[in-house]
Amino acid sequence: MTVPFLDLKAINLSQADELQAAFKRVLESGWYILGGATAAFETEFAAYSGSKHGIGVANGLDAIFLILKGYGIGPGDEVIVPSNTFVATWLAVSHCGATPVPVEPVEATYNIDPALIEAAITPRTRAIIPVHLYGQPADMDAINAIAGRHGLKVIEDSAQAHGSTCRGKVAGSLGDAAAFSFYPGKNLGALGDGGAVTTSDDQLADVIRTYRNYGSKVKYHNEVAGYNSRLDELQAALLSVKLKTLDQGNAQRRAIAAVYDQRLAGIPGLVLPVVPEWADPVWHLYVIRHPQRDALAKKLADQGIGTIVHYPIPPHLQPAYAHMGYKEGDFPISEAIHREVLSLPISPVMTLEQAEEVARAVRAAL
Ligand SMILES: *Cc1c(COP(=O)(O)O)cnc(C)c1O
Repeated sequence: MTVPFLDLKAINLSQADELQAAFKRVLESGWYILGGATAAFETEFAAYSGSKHGIGVANGLDAIFLILKGYGIGPGDEVIVPSNTFVATWLAVSHCGATPVPVEPVEATYNIDPALIEAAITPRTRAIIPVHLYGQPADMDAINAIAGRHGLKVIEDSAQAHGSTCRGKVAGSLGDAAAFSFYPGKNLGALGDGGAVTTSDDQLADVIRTYRNYGSKVKYHNEVAGYNSRLDELQAALLSVKLKTLDQGNAQRRAIAAVYDQRLAGIPGLVLPVVPEWADPVWHLYVIRHPQRDALAKKLADQGIGTIVHYPIPPHLQPAYAHMGYKEGDFPISEAIHREVLSLPISPVMTLEQAEEVARAVRAAL
């Protein structure tokens, strides 16, 4: 039995009739940008994410970028980011002219370590961007407390965390504003690019609505030098269909994670995900850690089991950040994580039987 890492085709075909009906509605509406389908999805997604406002944008990177712009963060400012994240978190900061200031993770959870944040704060710090990596919430109470003491904004990078909760509160409502991605492989994925900002800050929502549409509230009247970063009507209509099955998909991911937790326990050298008792992750990824990661991935591939490394190179060692002068050894926890992590297959269309099969293959390989 082969187990693909992620079968996007099967995921979308499981709702083919409803997706086709949504496509037909948009096709026949004759209106393709910023119309009823986007407004409807924004309302639904804001409610789902526990926020007053939802603002559809072009992608997750833009969602983070537009929040930073909306708060007036720019050249001369510093923004605290995890050293262990997908590069987009850093790029959003760089693109608005500010400087990303990396902070190492708690090794067990892979998420930013609140105990290390305060030492990274300077008079130039304006915001903290915790990432709910792999779908597991960061320790938001601790982060919000630090931000409160220093007058900083907290921007959740929720690109991997649609529906996850921290102490019973849902991702998207845990800071001042949150950025979501609807990249096809995310827990809530479009059939193309898409993103959203959620916030209960009326002023920020208003500014981002303006920025995403050329800095214009009234057509051809430009208040600020804005951008073109809108969620298409078509993607919004498809996302409304897929939002209805998000909880069901997340439940299947939890069930698969439970199989892995149980079947992979106790293998020497293998590190399984650690979930704090206050966190309810949505398992965007199920990430294991092993010193012989590459050999393990190869053995699994030989049996038709797909795995991916999230991520092979940390942002501070990417050529894109060479100008910051970081070198190997500057963020040793992140570097060790990047050398050893491996993501096992997990998705709403994967069966528990397939999870058992993957677990057996991992056990046999080690
Ligand atoms: C996917 C992702 C993004 C960027 O989202 P895009 O829609 O691809 O621009 C940002 N941050 C994290 C943590 C992500 O996983």
